[in-house]
Amino acid sequence: MTKSHVMTVLGPVAPDELGLTICHEHLLVDMTQSQTSAADLLMRSETGSKSTRADAAGWQFGEGAPGTTASFLGRWQGELRLDNYYDFVRNWFFRGEFRLTSIEDCIYEVERFKRAGGGCIVDATPVGLSRDPAGLREVSRATGVHIVMGGGYYEKAWHPPDIDDLSEDELYRRIKRDIVDGVGDEGIDGGVKSGHIGEVGMSYPRTDNEDKVLRAVVRAHTETGLAISIHPGKHTMGPIDALNRLQELDADIGKVIFCHCDNRPVLPYPQGFAEELWRPLAEAGAYLQFDTFGWEDSTRQASTTDAPNDAGRINMIMEVVEAGFEEQVLISHDIVMKHWLSKYGGWGIEHIPRSIVPLMKRKDMPEEVVRKILISNPANALAVEAS
Ligand SMILES: [Zn+2]
Repeated sequence: MTKSHVMTVLGPVAPDELGLTICHEHLLVDMTQSQTSAADLLMRSETGSKSTRADAAGWQFGEGAPGTTASFLGRWQGELRLDNYYDFVRNWFFRGEFRLTSIEDCIYEVERFKRAGGGCIVDATPVGLSRDPAGLREVSRATGVHIVMGGGYYEKAWHPPDIDDLSEDELYRRIKRDIVDGVGDEGIDGGVKSGHIGEVGMSYPRTDNEDKVLRAVVRAHTETGLAISIHPGKHTMGPIDALNRLQELDADIGKVIFCHCDNRPVLPYPQGFAEELWRPLAEAGAYLQFDTFGWEDSTRQASTTDAPNDAGRINMIMEVVEAGFEEQVLISHDIVMKHWLSKYGGWGIEHIPRSIVPLMKRKDMPEEVVRKILISNPANALAVEAS
């Protein structure tokens, strides 16, 4: 039997030691990068839906830098409190805290996950979202929870500023370096190594630079055997488009995780979760990841496609399980904002072990299926042959 391991931020671990694993979190993340205010975030707006939100949030161009009225800034840059909590829920995009940067808050959340029965967290934060290798290692040491670091690059807006000049070879070299040598070399454990590649961000249609990143990612994946998490373009065809390209590039589809399956292969009511959109992924052998558990807020719905609640997500999973693909399902929460953390009134990363496992059982999902989704499927997805 071939010996295999999962690479965590503290080194290799036997796959059967991971325990209950959630496969797509962002423990330490900054999606705002250098943009520090609600107004800066607004400047990043690219879609009509976001400018609609701007009106709803009371935004007007004013004279104060950077071009926004004072009352807007006062409203959106203050402390998160009970009396403004729902304002942030409703207009999440304007919250200056579109980032999780406190190691102490992170330890608090991961500790609660552990107390609820959690064993391992996949941090799907790629380089441009302020991935924090040393921070992840510190959190893992403090809590004893296994953490698997990601790699690669997200959507075009978060690419390195010099992405046009970076060759596919150079991108491949950087991604592979994170896997083989790790990041940093201080301390007894050496560099912090990526244990999977992702989340790799795609638009729909894919941009040239995103395709260049994808080619580099597949080369690193082929050589190392690491799984790839794909964040498909925000379109019903996003996942299938990415699948086709990955097949052209000869990726091992059995090691590809399609993220956000609870909101991509979905059509407007009454069709909903659409078999013609998800089955090709499953039949190709990929993992289908339902990773926005806890998002039960209809204000986040950005199109005619309904945003599901947790019971709806479990129904989607049951459909996939009944079609025979129970060994290809993964779940998570994809938490990226402060008010989603337990400490600040949110559901937190403890939500799956604390509330979703019981809900799965109440909905008559067989216990062995629950165990596969949370224990053996993640271990299989993340395991690589020991060299
Ligand atoms: Zn994503």
